[in-house]
Amino acid sequence: MIQYEGTLYRPPSEANSLILQATIGCSYNECSFCGMYRDKRFRVRPLDELLSEIARAKDEFGAGHVRKVFLADGDALIAKTAFLQKILVALRDAFPNLRRVSCYASPQSLQVRSVDDMRALRDAGLTLYYLGIESGHDVVLERLVKGVDAAEMIRVAVKANEAGVALSTMVLLGAGGRELSEAHALESARVVNAIQPRFVSTLVMTPVEGTPLAEEDARGEVDHLDPLELAAELRTFVDALELDGSIFRSNHASNYLTLSGSLPKDKARMVEALDAVLARPDSAPFRPEWLRGL
Ligand code: SF4
Repeated sequence: MIQYEGTLYRPPSEANSLILQATIGCSYNECSFCGMYRDKRFRVRPLDELLSEIARAKDEFGAGHVRKVFLADGDALIAKTAFLQKILVALRDAFPNLRRVSCYASPQSLQVRSVDDMRALRDAGLTLYYLGIESGHDVVLERLVKGVDAAEMIRVAVKANEAGVALSTMVLLGAGGRELSEAHALESARVVNAIQPRFVSTLVMTPVEGTPLAEEDARGEVDHLDPLELAAELRTFVDALELDGSIFRSNHASNYLTLSGSLPKDKARMVEALDAVLARPDSAPFRPEWLRGL
């Protein structure tokens, strides 16, 4: 059995992937809303441990059965290129049907890695990064302590594009409160449009115990949008997206509405669906609170 340290997090679309904890925790670990790795001290795991785990996974699951691998934890891309290359080579050797290796990439790890590094890692199999954009609005990004502004977010994400690595980006609905709701939606769409990621998804900002955001919430400083206000924000965001070939999903459990489609093809359909929700909120298919998760 592969042994994992602490709670393991992975994007919804990696539900069937083999998860390998290349690093523990998040090297940045400052985002005010994020409670995923607050209990972990960041470190890169020893290579020999990881190589043994790959061998164990091969025995356990069978060489031909592993098609996708997700490198955890919070920003495995921060680990040295040569180290990641060795893991990728071992994965490719162990699993002949491997189609994709992915990881979370914090903006800080994208700042550190050069386009050449990313290209070399892509050639070795690391072809998808998950990037939390959260917002394209500088005030919101500062409140979230994301560590970069919108211009820097675009700059680092475009490096991944240049390297030929696909991006799956996340935007945090409700992060601007009521006052900045529309501006947050429009600025986030502007940043996503500049990046042109392969995938775009939304999450709903939810205070998690032990985070600075939860402390702000306890002091009454967080302005929570209700499901209808979040639907209006989502409508503004989707309507402002100008994407040439992206997949949109709001399938994360924190969302009240599940929406998906290809852009630009399905944009009008998705906006219409959101208009219908706004026009008839009583019959809207909102996910009940008890079904929502983080
Ligand atoms: S960079 Fe990602 S994993 Fe790290 S603290 Fe921020 S949201 Fe959490």
